[in-house]
Amino acid sequence: MDDVKYKRVMLKLSGEALAGEQGFGIYPPKIKTVAEELREVYALGVQIAIVVGGGNIWRGEAGSEMGMERAQADYVGMLATIMNALALQDSLESMGVPTRVQTSIEMRQIAEPYIRRKAVRHLEKDRVVIFAGGTGSPYFSTDTTAALRAAEINADAILMAKNGTDGIYSADPNEDPAAVKFDSLTHLDIINKGLHVMDTTATSLSMENNIPLVVFNFNEPGNVLKVVKGENIGTTVKE
Ligand code: UDP
Repeated sequence: MDDVKYKRVMLKLSGEALAGEQGFGIYPPKIKTVAEELREVYALGVQIAIVVGGGNIWRGEAGSEMGMERAQADYVGMLATIMNALALQDSLESMGVPTRVQTSIEMRQIAEPYIRRKAVRHLEKDRVVIFAGGTGSPYFSTDTTAALRAAEINADAILMAKNGTDGIYSADPNEDPAAVKFDSLTHLDIINKGLHVMDTTATSLSMENNIPLVVFNFNEPGNVLKVVKGENIGTTVKE
């Protein structure tokens, strides 16, 4: 454990990380590569908590733009995150990594309800804990869930695994050739500069609770391991 910078991490995976090339749905071979990567980190003795998104299946905002009531559409999104969590659990367990899924909305036949103290106990017993169902409330995101649960379990850092970028840029590098990547920032910089990293609720929660955030490219194999070991990839956000 000496070569590890973060001993308890909150990994935020967007739903897209579990999808196939079309970016939609659940693609088991892709999940397998994700699980393999996580197994390497687990083998180092790092305590891993995961918040998984649902954007590969459903986004509440998109549903409401098409005429659904927003809160109802958001509940559909929360259920989507639970499907992803079960798929990820399946893959991790098939590789011998013990896991527990905890849901913010009770579904006792398939997962434990979210109980903070129990989640911490699982981590201490070297079980990967997957938090599913978001916060359990509409109008929030899974980024906010990651910041909230990270504070609750006292995580050393939030690892924001990104699929389309390798860090935080001054502008969208696909649109602005002058965009530059930041190696480090403060949480306040993100808010003041209006940078699109995660929503402001998530940013302010992690700022208020002083939780460092590392934004990195998840498409490159081995990056989670590098981040956990403290290698300077991506963008680190701290005070
Ligand atoms: N969601 C919600 N409350 C939460 C977390 C998620 O209502 O606390 C819903 C929301 O509709 C969101 C969807 O679940 O669009 C999927 O989550 P998110 O968009 O954060 O997934 P990601 O973009 O990370 O795949």
